[in-house]
Amino acid sequence: MFKGLGERLDEIFKSLKGKGRLTEDDVNHAMREVKMALLEADVNFKVVKEFVAQVKGRAVGQDVLESLSPAQQVIKIVRDELTELLGGTQAKINLSPKPPTIIMLVGLQGAGKTTTAGKLAKLLSKQGRRPLMVAGDIYRPAAIKQLQVLGDQLNIPVFSMGQENPVKIAQSAVEQANSTGRDLVIIDTAGRLHINEELMDELANIKSTVRPHEILLVVDAMTGQEAVNVADTFNQKLGLDGIVMTKLDGDARGGAALSVRKVTGTPIKFAGMGEKLDALEPFYPDRMADRILG
Ligand code: GDP
Repeated sequence: MFKGLGERLDEIFKSLKGKGRLTEDDVNHAMREVKMALLEADVNFKVVKEFVAQVKGRAVGQDVLESLSPAQQVIKIVRDELTELLGGTQAKINLSPKPPTIIMLVGLQGAGKTTTAGKLAKLLSKQGRRPLMVAGDIYRPAAIKQLQVLGDQLNIPVFSMGQENPVKIAQSAVEQANSTGRDLVIIDTAGRLHINEELMDELANIKSTVRPHEILLVVDAMTGQEAVNVADTFNQKLGLDGIVMTKLDGDARGGAALSVRKVTGTPIKFAGMGEKLDALEPFYPDRMADRILG
């Protein structure tokens, strides 16, 4: 992930550092190359334009160009703006003061919802929570079984009512959590191959019935700009609290992770870094920017 982008930026910065003193033209030239590198990494065009304008605005001032190490300063500005683009500071999930906290996971089929349910349950139970996982993806035949297998592995209970209505499942699961002292309910919902009205209606019904504290969209970073479009649509229809960007361990070009916050206004809260159950990390914008810039 970000390998290509990281290498490109590294080259651009090396040539900038080689110059010693910098002129406004040098900065403009470097920023043109940064722009190309970001576009090639599949970052949304509007996001790239704004980003580059922002960096230039800060970088061509007298105090930067006439400083002792202008290239370092420009690089620092890029790093700061990249952190900002990724959300600035870490966005945490909303935990309800009155248990149980209800987290609803939504997303398209194959994005990694069910796996993320298990990963999140594991991560939060390590922090002392007592999760109940809820099998609400009733259309994908293997999803219920998949969640039960994860529950067995993690020793975390799974609530299932087979192919029952998903709204009823969610509602009953919350009741069960209340009566069994579970302080966290993680609802796995149905996905589809594409967004459609039926899916959105079902998710909206679950939302209005159980009033989750946190609706997290699970998106696959490998799908690039499409992930951003998916996030935009889900956010408009459902109102998202956060995004889980999965498959950041893969060799996707990174554009989705860099664009999605700016385009949707929704923060990335977690990053999926592999198929294993401990491969979920809270998302830190500054650390991600460092990872990109090396
Ligand atoms: P769902 O249809 O959204 O519930 O998707 P699944 O949870 O079944 O995941 C689909 C596939 O993506 C599975 O093979 C997962 O192991 C894989 N997967 C999920 N998250 C990640 C991740 O962060 N990295 C990688 N490499 N694979 C992942």
